[in-house]
Amino acid sequence: MQAELDLESNLSAGKTKMILVSKPTDDGVSVSATIQVPFLDLQAQFAGIRAEMLSSVERVLESQHFILGSEVKALEVDVAHLVECQFAIGCASGSDALLLALMAMEIGSGDEVITTPFTFIATAGSIARVGARPVFVDINPDDLNLDPRQIEKVLTPRTRAILPVHLFGRPADMGEILEIAGASDLQVIEDAAQSIGARWKGRAVGSLGRIGCFSFFPSKNLGGAGDGGMVTTNDPVLADRLRVLRVHGSRGKYQYELVGINSRLDELQAAILRVKLPHLEKWTALRERNAERYRSIFHEFNLDGVVQLPSARPDGEHVYNQFIIRTPQRNELRDYMRRKGIGTEVYYPRPLHLQEAFAYLGYKAGDFPEAERASNEVMALPIYSELTEDQQQHVVSAIATFFEQ
Ligand SMILES: *Cc1c(COP(=O)(O)O)cnc(C)c1O
Repeated sequence: MQAELDLESNLSAGKTKMILVSKPTDDGVSVSATIQVPFLDLQAQFAGIRAEMLSSVERVLESQHFILGSEVKALEVDVAHLVECQFAIGCASGSDALLLALMAMEIGSGDEVITTPFTFIATAGSIARVGARPVFVDINPDDLNLDPRQIEKVLTPRTRAILPVHLFGRPADMGEILEIAGASDLQVIEDAAQSIGARWKGRAVGSLGRIGCFSFFPSKNLGGAGDGGMVTTNDPVLADRLRVLRVHGSRGKYQYELVGINSRLDELQAAILRVKLPHLEKWTALRERNAERYRSIFHEFNLDGVVQLPSARPDGEHVYNQFIIRTPQRNELRDYMRRKGIGTEVYYPRPLHLQEAFAYLGYKAGDFPEAERASNEVMALPIYSELTEDQQQHVVSAIATFFEQ
């Protein structure tokens, strides 16, 4: 009997499948089958902060003030502090954070923005949405982030910006990116949606380029109870434009200075995020501990070289929004794990240059071999803070058994 129950997040088809409940499946009564490992268990986190969460929601309901009030202001101050930026501007989602960043820089028709094809759709989607052209470069297989060595050959007089993604919680190789941007007078927009709290050479991501973009989607390291996002910058002129753009381009009531959008963070989300933010450092440390624990368990099971684990890189602190392993037998392994009651995910099964939405850009299979190979080989293991050592043992022993067969 197929007893596993996948509850797909209806918010973002294809982005994050949260297996909230899973039960032992096929082969019955083996001891290991009683250990359940959901891919992501938000209930476990909620259980620890339930009372605070409920009272924060109550506080907002009592105030009956729902849009851009004191909760959002307070969260903006806290996130600016965390990200070591002078300004943080709340908005409706991480996707809108990217869109607002490009709008604030007046990037649009005729402009080109360099980014990675191995990312969530919103990264390149935002570029296309403002009328500019996404220009992809391949990734570095070591960190799965945009490979700065590929940038120079795609620079044109129309290039306006570089949009690196700190994918899975690991900072992109910012040294060379910032150098090229400086030399060619390009803007740098960081897609830090998956990497709040990560550091590159000691500096917080989101503070390295002109604008940093964050997401509070529930599966991110700091996740709300719905959609939310934040834009960070040290530039007062951009900060001011961002604040105007998120409220229809309005500075005063019914005075429109720019053509903006409606993209506000609401008070309920901000209040909930303010409960979670003080826990973020501890939760991130637990993710890092889990990652180290995986490394030693994989080693104990003699799986070194059988599957590829995330490489350690000296310059960047990885906050492990995802723990990504690689194997050419990914699809078979994933089916096997599913039968064992272990949740896994694939981010991302098809690189953006091969998506129908971007067919008009004219790319073809083979253009970005590393991104394409990664799409066929990567698999995310459960890494959430509350994951136990027993669960991790169970995950790795299932992988070991798969490869023994
Ligand atoms: C989640 C995510 C986004 C978009 O964030 P939303 O809040 O879901 O709109 C953008 N880029 C990357 C890399 C993401 O992971």
